[in-house]
Amino acid sequence: MTCDPCNRSTGYLCTWHRAKLDARLRALPALYAEVGECLVPRRTGWGNIVATKAAAGPRSPINEDILDTVNWGRAAEILRSWREDVRRLRWPHRGETPPGGLAEDCRWLVQELDWIVAQYPAAGDLAREVRDLEAAARAVVGDPVPQRKVVGQCIALTDDQGTVCGAAITHRAGETRLVCRACRCVYEGQTELLLLLHYQPVPAA
Ligand SMILES: [Zn+2]
Ligand SMILES: [Zn+2]
Repeated sequence: MTCDPCNRSTGYLCTWHRAKLDARLRALPALYAEVGECLVPRRTGWGNIVATKAAAGPRSPINEDILDTVNWGRAAEILRSWREDVRRLRWPHRGETPPGGLAEDCRWLVQELDWIVAQYPAAGDLAREVRDLEAAARAVVGDPVPQRKVVGQCIALTDDQGTVCGAAITHRAGETRLVCRACRCVYEGQTELLLLLHYQPVPAA
């Protein structure tokens, strides 16, 4: 029995490759949440408010190919199938895998790493696939993931009564568009960014 990625004879994964898999499984949900932030399609009422927007011409920051292959849904599907497979081998009589998303499935696999290393012949394939998922996500969000800085509050209206969203708007080096994580409003281009700054609440003296 050897580590599939490196051929050392210490279970189906050596200590090093086990540690890598462990760390990647823990990082994956946050990483794919970040991918969602980078690839979120523009859908906002803001574009209607700023009529000059159309004059700027078509430009999409979204690479449609990336959107197809690197996304939360696909990562979740892949991790789900690994969880189902491990569970089927380990507890053949327990029936259906309980419902859960990417985060739960990653957590579950981390908890099962002892068994996976000792008993799961496909451990090397699992490690490789998780590595590839991580690499694909990092190609989108950067490595390391750059720090976000709060640049202000969201000024989008969230209902007909004039309620302002007010969530913190964050920016990361290199980003040319700001996305509110609460209401998904997108601020992009000089006009929108100036309006965002202009309507910031005056800080309490
Ligand atoms: Zn190894
Ligand atoms: Zn907002």
